[in-house]
Amino acid sequence: MHIFSTGKEAFFSMKEIPVTLNQNPKAKPQDEGALGFGRIFTDHMFLMNYEQGKGWINPRIVPYGTFDMDPAAMVLHYGQAIFEGTKCYRREDGGLQLFRPADNLARMSRSAQRMGMPELDEETALEGLKQLVRTDADWVPHRDGTSLYIRPTMISTDVGLGVHASKTYLFYIILSPVGAYYKEGLKPVSIYVEDEYVRAVRGGVGFTKCAGNYAASILAGDIAEKKGFSQVLWLDGVEQKYVEEVGSMNMMFAYGNRIVTPKLNGSILPGITRDSVLKLARQLGFEAEEARLNVEEIFADAKSGKLTEAFGTGTAAVISPVGTLALRDEKVTVGDGGIGRISQKLYDTLTGIQYGRLPDENGWVVRL
Ligand SMILES: *Cc1c(COP(=O)(O)O)cnc(C)c1O
Repeated sequence: MHIFSTGKEAFFSMKEIPVTLNQNPKAKPQDEGALGFGRIFTDHMFLMNYEQGKGWINPRIVPYGTFDMDPAAMVLHYGQAIFEGTKCYRREDGGLQLFRPADNLARMSRSAQRMGMPELDEETALEGLKQLVRTDADWVPHRDGTSLYIRPTMISTDVGLGVHASKTYLFYIILSPVGAYYKEGLKPVSIYVEDEYVRAVRGGVGFTKCAGNYAASILAGDIAEKKGFSQVLWLDGVEQKYVEEVGSMNMMFAYGNRIVTPKLNGSILPGITRDSVLKLARQLGFEAEEARLNVEEIFADAKSGKLTEAFGTGTAAVISPVGTLALRDEKVTVGDGGIGRISQKLYDTLTGIQYGRLPDENGWVVRL
């Protein structure tokens, strides 16, 4: 059934994506205040296969369900697995919009290239993403600050234990309605500077959203949590001196009206929120620059009060102000420990654009 092939769609759509509707749709969550993150999934998913020699084939939308997988499937052993995270937002007028989705798919192709996986057919993937969200449009929550989280994923599917690139892959997209990250306005987090373990190394896979990066970060995250911190700040993998990023956010530091963030160096994930915030900050009249940031200096600046704000940037929280920073046995409060002026301004501006309350002057929004 080609339910979305209206005349206009068909003109823009390179490939017609067949849809098999779920005959047993689930009940939508009753309480949008209790959604949390990534716990429930919608009625449909998008799938597309890759076969060496044929490329990406068989794009389709089908009822959400489990996969049958051989225990020797290569992804389960050697971890060729990459993912993305983006969101669909409901506007006040009820309309739906995506934020820079093509940038997520382009980043996924760069992750794929590094992992020896095939680059995406980004055009078909984007069309699939849009049609999937339209199919499950009723799942996009309404409550303030909620959204539909979109998780594109690619895994290797060859069966066998030889260590080499798979010849077949599965690309899929699943959707999850998620709650407001901040239920009562922005809230500062406490961050622990990790000086034992590292997340990424020069020449490694730090710039990719590959599954292994997150597996490797879990232990340090657990230890920091036990010490009472909510996130780990990673340092560079060579000298363990320079700030890289936190769990799933890039880091920014403000000195008055000047914002600095670590320069992309191959081991930092090039966040789409990071890029958007750098552009918006300049448009709002702040200075924004990329540099190599020594953690000892940042810490000293926080103590002396020169550092006025610190915040993380990422799709999930958008802006996450840092109230406390801990390095070894020392703790320091950033600014007054509350929400900084720049953090709040950037949060209000970017979420305003994402939810359609503010004009989108950068062409980031895709209306559905
Ligand atoms: C996803 C992610 C980010 C943030 O990227 P966005 O595109 O802004 O969501 C930052 N760091 C890491 C390690 C990530 O996985």
